Amino acid sequence: MLPNTVTLPLSALWRSKYVGRVAVTVVVLLAAGLFTWAFMSTYEGRVHSSRHQAERELLAISQLQAEGVASWREQRFADAYTLVDDVLLARAVADWQRAPTPDSSELVQGRLRILQERAKYAAVFFADASGQLQLAPDGLQPFTLPVPELAALQKALTQAQVVAVEPRVDPTFAFPFFSAMAPLFDGATPLGAVWLVSDVRSTLYPQLSHWPTASATAESSIVTRQGDEVVYLSPLRHATSAGLGMRSLLTRAKDPAVQAILGVRGIFSGEDYRSAQVIAVASTVPDSPWLLVTKIDQAEVLADARQREMLVLGLPVVLGLLLLGLLFALLQHKAWRRERDLKTKLQHNMRLLEGAQKAAHIGYFAYDIAQKRFIMSRMADTIFGVQGDTGLDRSHWVALLLPQEREYVLNEHTKAIRNGTPLRVQYRIHRGNDQQLRWVEVWGEFDADPVTGRSVRMFGTAQDITERKQVEEELAAYRQGLEKTVRQDPLTQIANRRALDEHVATEWQRAMRGQTTLGLLMIDVDHFKAYNDHHGHVAGDHCLQAVARAIAVSVGRAGELAARFGGEEFAVLIPDAHTGHAREVAERIRAAVQALGMPHGFSPTADCITVSVGVACVQPVFSEPLAVEHMFEQADAALYQAKQGGRNRVQVFNPL
Ligand code: GH3
Ligand code: MG
Ligand code: MG
Repeated sequence: MLPNTVTLPLSALWRSKYVGRVAVTVVVLLAAGLFTWAFMSTYEGRVHSSRHQAERELLAISQLQAEGVASWREQRFADAYTLVDDVLLARAVADWQRAPTPDSSELVQGRLRILQERAKYAAVFFADASGQLQLAPDGLQPFTLPVPELAALQKALTQAQVVAVEPRVDPTFAFPFFSAMAPLFDGATPLGAVWLVSDVRSTLYPQLSHWPTASATAESSIVTRQGDEVVYLSPLRHATSAGLGMRSLLTRAKDPAVQAILGVRGIFSGEDYRSAQVIAVASTVPDSPWLLVTKIDQAEVLADARQREMLVLGLPVVLGLLLLGLLFALLQHKAWRRERDLKTKLQHNMRLLEGAQKAAHIGYFAYDIAQKRFIMSRMADTIFGVQGDTGLDRSHWVALLLPQEREYVLNEHTKAIRNGTPLRVQYRIHRGNDQQLRWVEVWGEFDADPVTGRSVRMFGTAQDITERKQVEEELAAYRQGLEKTVRQDPLTQIANRRALDEHVATEWQRAMRGQTTLGLLMIDVDHFKAYNDHHGHVAGDHCLQAVARAIAVSVGRAGELAARFGGEEFAVLIPDAHTGHAREVAERIRAAVQALGMPHGFSPTADCITVSVGVACVQPVFSEPLAVEHMFEQADAALYQAKQGGRNRVQVFNPL
């Protein structure tokens, strides 16, 4: 059926909305993918640089703290060396050792007191060379130095320099402390040493705990090496119970403290004492065996960096989305307004259309071929007499049709649907609401599926044409009546002269073609004037009517026509008649009139009404009017002869 079954559906498909939708979806997906890729790579790049920045921050903090720690330690040593170099103090101690009087002790104690108060030492003692504590700023119960400090004292006296004991915890004090032993000599004689005790918790550790950012995992620790172990000299943020006693074996290679002790410097990553992944910085504390290890959890750095970058990048995205949303809302608003205007216009047009439909008695409809359902306008509902709120089922519509017309109407529909040709059909229905018989005229056009080319929907108009049909029928009946009257004699109700002339012309042609004979009878009532004169005109009319009836019943064969020729004369045309048959018909007529037995009373030739008949039989050869006239003249001549012959008789034309 289709000229090209491949290209037609393809081109239809291309034109269809489907392709447009697919194209838009692909473009949107590509754009979204591209945007996500751009966003993610920018984001990853920025997270990377953010992490670097966090690492640099860590480095800076670590160095700052290392400087603080170094200067703290330097200060301890500086204080201690001031004592070592203090000749007056050494002499005062020597004097006191020689002669321990309150005055001499006060001299030493005063010096110790000044040192303790000014430099905020937790305790300051003077211990003799054997390690016996002998003087404190405010009196003292003498006791012996703890072992590490005693060792430091001996070393200090041997080397004549300040010796420190790293921060530690000992029952001597209620706090972790750092000791500096400042040896005193009287000339070359060792006197003992001043033991400077610093509470590291309140003086050293604050250097570490101060953190410029609010980090949850960052911490700095002072570590040092003791044999095969790393010792933590400051408390741990995440292992508070460990105190200062925590140690780590040098074999724990990933531990940042171990890495620092083994010489790694700068920024590096590792796994701390909690087995957490950390980013660490190792800084040296100048002039000390200490190292400062500063670290932060990798997870925190990453999370911070991600959060910051998410904010930085998310903000423009959110702004962009907001802008898009605004634009969309604006467009929607415009579209909404356009739609509202269109709706108003449509409603206005619909009202006009409804009005026009009402005035013209035209309704419109759409018929869904697959659903077998009509959707109709209000006027169409009225025309079919249905409640069309939910549409009209095909079966319901079929039920409205007249049973005898159903097949025809359905055939017309099927034909139009199949061929996609316009539907033009008139049929009758029993209107749904009042069962009135109505004529409707339905015009329909079809919508075809672009892919299959098959009709999917019919839409069109339905018009109630009952009144028009009635007028048409009346007109037809009137025309029929008119035609009848034009060819009928009003008095006798048989054909008139005009009908006779037309019939003669038709039969003349037929006889010419068939080369047959035409018979013509001319019939005249005998002495009718006398009848009229004596019985009156009305009786004359009745007589003519009776004669006409008698003639009509005597003429029976197809094509034969009896007519009133004029006055009291009648004519009969007999097609395909030979003379014998024509004479028979003439005789039958004559006898029938006589058999009427209508009394005349004033006829010189008979008692009752009679007729004379002239018969002519011709075979038409020419079609000129003269030839027809000639036939009438022959019949007239024969009639004249019948009259002459005594009336009430039949005379066949005899040319003599
Ligand atoms: P003939 O035997 O020679 O035919 O004599 P006739 O008297 O019948 O002939 P004529 O032609 O002299 O008379 C015909 C009469 O028919 C004259 C007229 O008054 C009468 N006539 C013609 N038409 C009508 C008609 O329609 N009604 C009536 N009542 N009379 C008619
Ligand atoms: Mg006459
Ligand atoms: Mg007459």
